[in-house]
Amino acid sequence: MKRIVVLTTIILLITTNMNAQNLKGNNWTARKVDRTYIVSVADKSSVLDALTDFVIAQKIPAGQITGIGATNEATLRFFDPVTKKYVDKTFNEQMEISNLSGNISEVLGKPMLHLHVTLGRKDYMALAGHLLDAKIRGAGEFFVYPVSSKVIKVKNEAVGLNFYDFGK
Ligand code: FE
Repeated sequence: MKRIVVLTTIILLITTNMNAQNLKGNNWTARKVDRTYIVSVADKSSVLDALTDFVIAQKIPAGQITGIGATNEATLRFFDPVTKKYVDKTFNEQMEISNLSGNISEVLGKPMLHLHVTLGRKDYMALAGHLLDAKIRGAGEFFVYPVSSKVIKVKNEAVGLNFYDFGK
């Protein structure tokens, strides 16, 4: 009986870890569980650089990203569709990344991360917008859900942005 319990425990431990794999890259470590990746971006490193390196290293053609963490330097970008110009603003202060949502696609043959963020300030008020980049200060915890085929974004000249167009 004891032997059966020990054997069952060993088999369970092996099968639970069979679908998990630890990975490492430039300023990130990750664990792949089934088809999902859990990514940790290192303290004091760029979210965009680390996640782009991760996507290239893991050959992820497209997918979804979610994340939480903390930053002390974040640049948000605002697009004005009338002038088709960007206005960038950098916030140098300690903030919570209370939510990061984004997608991974391909633009002109290169991986493109489109990230939006909500940042919590010291006074608990929030900043939000399109995230150009942020430097992690504390934790940077992300979940990446890949899809198995390429998803290409094309520049829409009338709007002035790259986006999905599945009508062509
Ligand atoms: Fe955006």
